[in-house]
Amino acid sequence: MSETFTSVTSGPDAPALRERSRLSFDLDVDIAVVGAGLAGLTVALEAARLGASVAVLEGRHVGWNASGHLLGTVMPGFGLPIGELIARIGFEDTRELWSLSKQGADFVRANATEELMPGIAPSEGALEVSNVEGGDEMISRLQMLGEDFETEVEGWQVDRVRAELRTDRYFHGVYYPKAFQIDGRKYVHGLAALARRAGARIFEDTPVVSIDPSGIRKRIVTPSARLRASHIVLAGNIHLGAPLRRLSETLLPVWRYAALTAPLGERLADVMTFQGSVTDNDGIDHFRIVDGDRLMWASPETTWAARPQRFAPAIARRIRTIFPRLGRVDIAEVWGGAMGQTVHGMPQIGQLRKGLWVTSGFGRQGLNTSAMAGQLIARSILWGDERWRLFSPFELVWAGGRTGRAAGYMIGMWERGSSAAAGALARYRERARVQERIHEARLAEANRQAGTRPQPRRPPPGRPRPARPRPPAATGEGEGAS
Ligand SMILES: Cc1cc2nc3c(=O)[nH]c(=O)nc-3n(C[C@H](O)[C@H](O)[C@H](O)COP(=O)(O)OP(=O)(O)OC[C@H]3O[C@@H](n4cnc5c(N)ncnc54)[C@H](O)[C@@H]3O)c2cc1C
Repeated sequence: MSETFTSVTSGPDAPALRERSRLSFDLDVDIAVVGAGLAGLTVALEAARLGASVAVLEGRHVGWNASGHLLGTVMPGFGLPIGELIARIGFEDTRELWSLSKQGADFVRANATEELMPGIAPSEGALEVSNVEGGDEMISRLQMLGEDFETEVEGWQVDRVRAELRTDRYFHGVYYPKAFQIDGRKYVHGLAALARRAGARIFEDTPVVSIDPSGIRKRIVTPSARLRASHIVLAGNIHLGAPLRRLSETLLPVWRYAALTAPLGERLADVMTFQGSVTDNDGIDHFRIVDGDRLMWASPETTWAARPQRFAPAIARRIRTIFPRLGRVDIAEVWGGAMGQTVHGMPQIGQLRKGLWVTSGFGRQGLNTSAMAGQLIARSILWGDERWRLFSPFELVWAGGRTGRAAGYMIGMWERGSSAAAGALARYRERARVQERIHEARLAEANRQAGTRPQPRRPPPGRPRPARPRPPAATGEGEGAS
C-alpha cells in the first residue's frame, strides 16, 4: 500500500516523528480494543472519556489501512440506500438508525474542530449527483429525507448542478448543506491524540495473535505480552485474521484507490465551482477540491490488493471523462485502502457473546458510522445503553471466501457497466431532445419565412403513430359525448 498521503504528516501524532510504543509487558484493563482505525479509536476515546481503563492494540500503526486514506466526507446515513433499509427493517427502526447515523456525524463535527485537531480544515456541504435523469425519484427521496428523516436537503435541478459542475455526465442532485469534509488523515491521528489525552493507551506494532473470550476476564495474546480485560472490542476490519477468522470471513474486502492531482490552476474553476464533496448516486466517483486548485478523486476498486500507483492513469482518464474541458491532468499522489463490505451492506455492530464486541464492516461510509458505533458500544459497556440491538437484524453472514471476492468483483464491474450504460442512454436522450428542439425551431422559422403552416411530423420508426384527430361532427356529437 502506498505510504504517500495528501494531508500534512507533521505534528505530535505523525507516525514518522512520534515514537511508536509496542506492548511488551502484561496488562490488565477494563476494555481492550483490537485495531486503531476509526472504529477502534472512537470506542477507545468514548470509553476513556466515560472513565474506563482502555488499551488499544494495533498490529501496524494508527490509521494504517482505510482510516488513514479517506477523502474525509462526512454524511448522514449508511452505505445501504434508505429505501432498502426501510424494506428490510421497517420505517420506524430505519428512522432510529438514521438518527443514530446523524449523531455519528455530530460526534465527528464536535471533535474535528481546529481547536482540538489543528489543521483539520472542515468545510461544508456535499452533493450527490445522479448519473441518469431521475427527477421523480429525487423528489420523493427529498421529501422522505426532509420530512420523515429530519435531514436538511435541497434538490438541485440539472441546470443548477451543471452550473457548478460543468459536465453533461450529471443530471439532478441532492445537496446536503449539513454534510462536511475534513482532512481524513489528520482526523484519525487527532482521534488517537484525544483518546490518549482521555487516558487510553495505544500500542502500535502490536498484533493480536489470539483471544480467549471465555470467562469474566478475557485474555489476549500478542507476540510479546498478555493482556486481560473484561471486554474485548474487535475493530480489525478485514485484517483481523487469527483472533477470530470466522468474523473476518463475513467481510468482502474491497480495495478503493484515490489520487490527488497536481495543481490545475484556473482550469479547475472553469469546470467546477462547487467547494464541497461530490458523489454520484452509483457510488462510482467521489471527489472534491483541495488546496484551492487540486482535485482529490476516488474511483477504482478491486477485490484484491494491488499497487495503487497502477491506477494513476485510470484515475486521470476518469477525471477527463467527467470533465473533458480540463484537458491533461497530472497525478501527484495515489493511495488506496481496504474496506470491509458486508453481504447486507450494513455495518457489524454489537455483542457476539458476553463481553466480546464487534465494530466493523463500514464500507465506503465509515466516518459517521464508526463514530456512531463507538458511542453505542462504549455506552452499552459502561451505561447499559442497549440501542446497538437495532443492528441485530443485520447478522454476520459469510462473504463467500475466494469465490465471494471474484463474484463481488464481477458484480461491481457489472454495476459500474450498467450505470455507465444508463448514463450514456440518458445523455443520448438529452442530446436527441436538444436536436429535436433545434430541428423544430428551424422548421418553424422556415415555415414562417415561407408563410406555410407546419406539416404534421412523421413519428420515428418504432413509435406508435398518434391517433389522427377526427373532425368534430356537425351535429355536435363530439362534445359531451360519453
Ligand atoms: C480511498 C478511500 C476513501 C474513503 N473515503 C471516505 C470518506 O470520504 N468518508 C467516509 O465516511 N468513509 C470513507 N472511506 C471508508 C472508510 O475509510 C472506512 O469505512 C473506515 O476507515 C473503516 O475503519 P475501520 O476502523 O473499521 O478499519 P481500518 O481502517 O481498516 O482499521 C482497522 C485496524 O485494525 C488493525 N488490525 C486488524 N487486525 C488486527 C489484529 N489482529 N491485531 C492488531 N491490529 C489489527 C489494522 O492494522 C487496522 O489499522 C474511504 C475509504 C477509502 C479506501
